[in-house]
Amino acid sequence: MSARLIDGKAIAAEVRATVKAQVAERTAAGHRPPGLAVVLVGENPASQVYVRNKRKACDEVGFVSVSHDLPASTTQDELLALVDALNCDDSIDGILVQLPLPDHINEETVIERISPMKDVDGFHPYNVGRLTLRMPLLRPCTPYGCMTLLAHTGVDLVGKDAVIIGQSNIVGRPMALELLAARCTITICHSKTRNLEEKIRNADIVVAAVGVPRFVKGEWIKPGAIVIDVGINRLDDGKLCGDVDFDSAVEKASWITPVPGGVGPMTIATLLQNTLAAQQLRD
Ligand code: NAP
Repeated sequence: MSARLIDGKAIAAEVRATVKAQVAERTAAGHRPPGLAVVLVGENPASQVYVRNKRKACDEVGFVSVSHDLPASTTQDELLALVDALNCDDSIDGILVQLPLPDHINEETVIERISPMKDVDGFHPYNVGRLTLRMPLLRPCTPYGCMTLLAHTGVDLVGKDAVIIGQSNIVGRPMALELLAARCTITICHSKTRNLEEKIRNADIVVAAVGVPRFVKGEWIKPGAIVIDVGINRLDDGKLCGDVDFDSAVEKASWITPVPGGVGPMTIATLLQNTLAAQQLRD
């Protein structure tokens, strides 16, 4: 068996095109374009790349992106004051503070300061709580993007056994909530999980968000399972690879996301969806 690819690049392009068309339609009807404030503190090279890609994606769909590049020496109070100003700015629909923040700034404090209605990353406890209660508003981008990818397989998720490897606040936990809301039976695994391999062997859906290159082996995958690889790892030779050993998993799965070109492009496309949704919430 060889799995079919879930083409995140193509699906993300479709999502971006839909957002672009909706923005054009709304602008023609007299609305201002959605505004996204992107805040970067310090000079983390990976963050600089992510932020550049997010700003570029905003421009392509007709959003106004406003950049706030702050020095690493920015104090927590200064950052909170900027967030307060953006919360009050009517031209701004979404606020994105790129993580990680420098060590002297408490990420939770900053996330909680963002207005939940402008929290386009979906990290605010209000938005995570709403997802928990099956009344989602702004949904965490990466897991929401994974749900879009799963929808494109056309497979009915109801009743499926899903194993999520990783319990981070930004990927693993909200992914589990998304799959639970889709009526899957979920198992969340982490570094202290016992018999991990056995759990994966019984899963109809495997979501890997571990941060360890090629951690999940093809021999652990149940024949016909759907595999979503969230991992993005840079190898010594400069190439990217996921948290799943793609070459062996592709032989067992029915559907699989590649890395690169799977979950990664969907995260940014979903951020655009969330920003448009945030503007519509404030209409
Ligand atoms: P994270 O915060 O480091 O969380 C990793 C999780 O994996 C933790 O819950 C950890 O367990 C678990 N884990 C680590 N080693 C394990 C093991 N041996 N067995 C079982 N579980 C283990 O990472 P993250 O932010 O969720 O990111 C995960 C991956 O996704 C990374 O590769 C990251 O680059 C990628 N990512 C991709 C996107 C995208 O847009 N595609 C977005 C975000 C992240 P404990 O909690 O017990 O420590």
